[in-house]
Amino acid sequence: MKYLITGGAGFIGSAMIRHIIKSSDNEVVNVDSLTYASNLDSLHEICKSPRYFFENVDISDRKEIKRIFSQYSPDFIINFAAESHVDNSIKSPFIFMQTNIIGTYNLLINSFNYFNELDDQKKKTFRFLHVSTDEVYGDLEDKDDLFTENTKYNPSSPYSASKASSDHLVRAWRRTYKLPTLITNCSNNYGPYQHSEKLIPTVIKNILSLKKIPIYGDGKNIRDWLYVQDHIEAILTVLDSSEIGETYNIGGDNQIENLELVNKICEICDRKFPSKSSKLSKYSELIDFVNDRAGHDYKYAIDASKIKKDLGWEPSESFNSGLEKTIDWYIENKLFLGIE
Ligand code: NAD
Repeated sequence: MKYLITGGAGFIGSAMIRHIIKSSDNEVVNVDSLTYASNLDSLHEICKSPRYFFENVDISDRKEIKRIFSQYSPDFIINFAAESHVDNSIKSPFIFMQTNIIGTYNLLINSFNYFNELDDQKKKTFRFLHVSTDEVYGDLEDKDDLFTENTKYNPSSPYSASKASSDHLVRAWRRTYKLPTLITNCSNNYGPYQHSEKLIPTVIKNILSLKKIPIYGDGKNIRDWLYVQDHIEAILTVLDSSEIGETYNIGGDNQIENLELVNKICEICDRKFPSKSSKLSKYSELIDFVNDRAGHDYKYAIDASKIKKDLGWEPSESFNSGLEKTIDWYIENKLFLGIE
């Protein structure tokens, strides 16, 4: 089988590619335009495999995406490519519209043209899986609320609005053109190779370099965390077993306030490498409350019961074990955080 993976030099896409190449005989074509968020080092373990192909191409490039479909004849496409950082989307929204909306549209029209030319056997198995986020649902007000697959879309930021738009396009291509699509909406991921602009790597980086740890507002915002490998397994489960046209929410049921999460990371680091500075007895003293993000969602929390019940997926990593592993990885790979 051959997977066409977009955004495979990013955090989650690269975890998917490492997993496929290391655990199967399948082939992968990685289409990534290598934005600032990419890191080809995340693929160093597998990049010499004869089953791995790399194309430095923008998903919005109609001619190049057409060429890639005809050159490689993939069995599946998994679309990870996106601009993914909410803060950047507030400062510079255009590129989010270009990549997340127009890029997805371009993948859909090319997939549809390619799909139409397939023989009946390949038509039966071809899938377009679009990787999306829980942020399309907006935020939850009540502590006990959860996002289900039927929650109304209500995105708050330019990022989440662009992802919501791309989800709508994918559903339209299913309904109107019968393209065999699937959508997954996942909660916040964490793990190795995540860009240092995101919360968990930022906290670890600032602890390692004894810099202030910025926390938006009062730190009471709640996020639901999933270890990246569990997300990978969930996507592959959906790709293998789901009915065409389905949507699945994916989450680890690890809802925690940002401040509590940061304190947890500080405590683990206090235990693993206590501060040697006379001015700092514990790393939580680095916490610095900063002005809140515009439009900051209060709470995200996923109800993942549908994927568990329908497809038998369960996360393998507990939040504590995943966090320990992640912190160990960043300590061993300080260079990735730009620390000598
Ligand atoms: P990331 O920012 O780490 O990686 C994105 C990758 O896409 C990068 O390698 C970048 O070079 C590539 N890319 C960007 N624009 C491109 C373009 N126009 N053409 C080709 N490649 C392009 O993102 P991530 O955290 O790995 O997220 C991957 C996907 O998963 C995104 O669609 C995101 O919305 C979704 N998602 C992420 C999370 C999370 O917590 N990180 C949670 C749920 C869903």
